[in-house]
Amino acid sequence: MKDYRVLLYYHYVRIEDPQVLREEHLAYCQSIGLLGRIYISEEGINGTVSGTVSQVQIYIDWMEQHPYFKGVTYKMDEADGHAFKKMHVRVKNELVNFSLEDDVNPKELTGRYVEPKEFFERIQDPDTIIIDARNDYEYDLGHFRGAIKPEIKRFRDLPNWIRENKAQFKGKKILTYCTGGVRCEKFSGWLKREGFDDVGQLHGGIVTYGKDPVAQGAYWDGQCYVFDNRIAVPINQVNPRIVGKDHFTGEPCERYINCANPDCNKQILCTVENEIKYRGSCSDACRVHPRNRYKDK
Ligand SMILES: [Zn+2]
Repeated sequence: MKDYRVLLYYHYVRIEDPQVLREEHLAYCQSIGLLGRIYISEEGINGTVSGTVSQVQIYIDWMEQHPYFKGVTYKMDEADGHAFKKMHVRVKNELVNFSLEDDVNPKELTGRYVEPKEFFERIQDPDTIIIDARNDYEYDLGHFRGAIKPEIKRFRDLPNWIRENKAQFKGKKILTYCTGGVRCEKFSGWLKREGFDDVGQLHGGIVTYGKDPVAQGAYWDGQCYVFDNRIAVPINQVNPRIVGKDHFTGEPCERYINCANPDCNKQILCTVENEIKYRGSCSDACRVHPRNRYKDK
């Protein structure tokens, strides 16, 4: 049993004064020694935090007493240490930046919740199409077998991509998924408003699917990209495969580095050999950049 836990959670709830809540939340998290990144907006809260087993439990207990946050679902991973260096609580316009002119409120309109067991069964159903609701670089590290990859760098580009590719989804049963579920709440609601009738979302996201006793992460290929220091977490306990590819050679690789050019800092998959060979850089321009921070090892 490891000593630390990483918590992932979100909750759509109407918040009157996000700024006041932000101050309160930050002060409390700091007082108990939690680290992480939490977003608060008028539509709710979305966070990933890390701490010891007892710190994390104290936080959950406190949240349960909080008028806004009773009944939040937490996804919990074991860890060897903190997954963050600092504690950030930020106020944002939206929990996830979808930037619709006419916003979707998941509390009023969202896709049907599909539990991991049903999702597992429907992966094998030829009449169902599965759309990955994440960014291209997340897909490249790992995804459900056969899932459709939207070619997008940012979540807010997803609606346009769907409209441009609408023909291939017409009349199909649609399932969507994302890391923990927060993006699908809006995306699946938006799909319904766009006129797709049969829309389901993976309840609890990929991380819940990986822990489900029936699904056990089956048909998930590669690793799951996460937005903390771990970067990649395993999901598939049954039939894992590697799908990540080295940036230079395309050989199987699940190791991320940041480009050594501080102005670029792009995250690339890269083997140890190629990191040395290309001096930790994503391109020739970055390799010869005067402030390249690669140190010979
Ligand atoms: Zn670069």
